[in-house]
Amino acid sequence: MSRPRRPGDPARWPVPCGRCGQHHQIAARWPDGAVCGYCYQQAKRTRGTCSCGHQGVLPGRIGGRPACRRCSGVRLNIDCRERGAEDELYSGGRCQACTLKATVDRLLASPATGVIAPQLVPLAGALTSMTRARSGLTWIRQKHVTAFLESLAVAPQVTHDTLDALPGSPTREYVRGLLVGHGCIPRRDELLARCQAWAENALTGLSDPAHRDLLRRYIRWHHQRRMHQADPVSIGTFLRSKQAVTVAIDLLNWLTEHEISLAGLRQGHLDAWQAEGPATRLIADRFLRWAIKTRAVTPDLSIRRHRRGTSDKLSPSAQSQAIHRVVRTSDLTPRDRAAAILVLVFGQQVEDIARLTWDEVNITEDLVTIRLGSTAIALPGPLDQPWRQLAARPGSDTTAARPASPWVFRGYSPGRHIHPASLRTRLSPIFSTRAARLATLHELTKLAPVAVIAETLGYAPATIERHAIGSAATYAQYIAAAREQRNTAHQAADN
Ligand SMILES: [Zn+2]
Ligand SMILES: [Zn+2]
Ligand SMILES: [Zn+2]
Repeated sequence: MSRPRRPGDPARWPVPCGRCGQHHQIAARWPDGAVCGYCYQQAKRTRGTCSCGHQGVLPGRIGGRPACRRCSGVRLNIDCRERGAEDELYSGGRCQACTLKATVDRLLASPATGVIAPQLVPLAGALTSMTRARSGLTWIRQKHVTAFLESLAVAPQVTHDTLDALPGSPTREYVRGLLVGHGCIPRRDELLARCQAWAENALTGLSDPAHRDLLRRYIRWHHQRRMHQADPVSIGTFLRSKQAVTVAIDLLNWLTEHEISLAGLRQGHLDAWQAEGPATRLIADRFLRWAIKTRAVTPDLSIRRHRRGTSDKLSPSAQSQAIHRVVRTSDLTPRDRAAAILVLVFGQQVEDIARLTWDEVNITEDLVTIRLGSTAIALPGPLDQPWRQLAARPGSDTTAARPASPWVFRGYSPGRHIHPASLRTRLSPIFSTRAARLATLHELTKLAPVAVIAETLGYAPATIERHAIGSAATYAQYIAAAREQRNTAHQAADN
């Protein structure tokens, strides 16, 4: 924790320090010689056992070895007025540990009684005995920490509910952890508690209060029971539960709106509800199975998974937006853009993309071609840009002409390709790979993705359209379209 030293200045300080020999301002003249500011500071912090047996601060020097004040004759105030113990003084004649303790005592004392409530005494002890008093002081002197501790001090009784009522912050959770750790309040499962609070609030989102009982039972017997079984509850479980309940509420409200009772719910209703909404409606599966089990609905209902025409795919506008982002903007890495294009524009599987090797990528001046299984995919400009960038700079090794690894998408462990799940996660901020792929496959059977690309990238739609009839030959047509695009570009350049 010592300050970085500035270089010495012999012109300004001609007398060198007796300890370090450098030319700095002299802070004290001690029996062993002149001592510069740096060495003075260091002396106050030198602790150990003197040859006389004294334990404490050893600011002096005898024969080059640290020595106590009595043996060395150094005069220095290192007597903390609080404990009388030797230590570097921090403020008001107190050492850092005592200053920290005084601060904690002041903040946690009840303003009414002037003493710390018995319940908070262990917390005070914990805060006071931080091994690094200096960091403790830095932490506790922050305004928001001070304010938080003061609000604890005025609370008549500290419980999880008391803490929940205070503004949420890392400080609150840190102090909660200390309170639990020192037995001031009982341990509770944070996520379970958050889920309970959230569920109670979510119930108010039901447009028909008659559904409340059912939903409450669903939450309690399906979700919370599972959470109680898991120890501890993972954030994933919590989020999935939240999502499942949200979707159930959405379904129930839709039924209310369409004046359909749960008992009167039929498959056609479910399909209609699913088709109208986002892909997340698939999650209603969980609620439906529970409702069937509890006989709230007829048993022959199901949430259909891969129905064409349902919305389990990116909408055309979302797809077009994603393509634009991937192709036109530079806020993504070439690696993510390269993978995204294969999913978005060509409907390829993430599993296959993750396994792609450089042998399957062919880059010429005019065209980038990629072989994925039995499919050759030609990437006309500007779709080829991320691939060219990747090939020019494969990974961190910029000097190698050929990448050392055969994989286009290297994994975190050497010699492995990226795990498909990691790739999917990387792409998830741009789109859901499943929804995007379904959308693209769907479009491939029609005029798109060519039509989508024509629109998004400003291709001449007439040129594209000729090549986009039928679906089986789409990739071959793609290459043809790319060639034509290239020829057009050459002609334009020649003219
Ligand atoms: Zn010095
Ligand atoms: Zn001594
Ligand atoms: Zn002290």
